[in-house]
Amino acid sequence: MTQRGPYRKRMIKEPPRFQIFKPAGISTRSLKQIEMTLDEHEALRLADYRQFEHLEASQKMNISRPTFTRLINQARSKVAKALIEGTILVIGGGNIDFKQTLHYCQDCGEIIKQTVHADLDDCQECGSTNTEDLATRHLDGSEADGSGESEGK
Ligand SMILES: [Zn+2]
Repeated sequence: MTQRGPYRKRMIKEPPRFQIFKPAGISTRSLKQIEMTLDEHEALRLADYRQFEHLEASQKMNISRPTFTRLINQARSKVAKALIEGTILVIGGGNIDFKQTLHYCQDCGEIIKQTVHADLDDCQECGSTNTEDLATRHLDGSEADGSGESEGK
């Protein structure tokens, strides 16, 4: 494989609302775990949930169509494996950027669309200050309150 300059980031609409799925009623310790990257998850959302054509979906993610096809195939394979084998499915990771984020109220569950790295407001529904920017789970990594510059690797 040859290197062709910096690895382009995949554009994701917004952070996923749910990050971990597991079979009900089985102790976590006895389960295997599969990780689905955010770009695989976005491919699944665009193609199978929103029903976009692969070409249009690849353009939304700022990637080539073959790359999109590879992502969607990987995502489907992981979902199938999780359903059939009963593994934990964890969504996260990948070289990605978000177009927008979601601010989530931990008291009433209200979700508000926001620009990435916008200041956290009090919840518009219940007035709670206990709100979370869901993108920070994925973008900041170990460094909390980073400057917002995420360095690709
Ligand atoms: Zn609220």
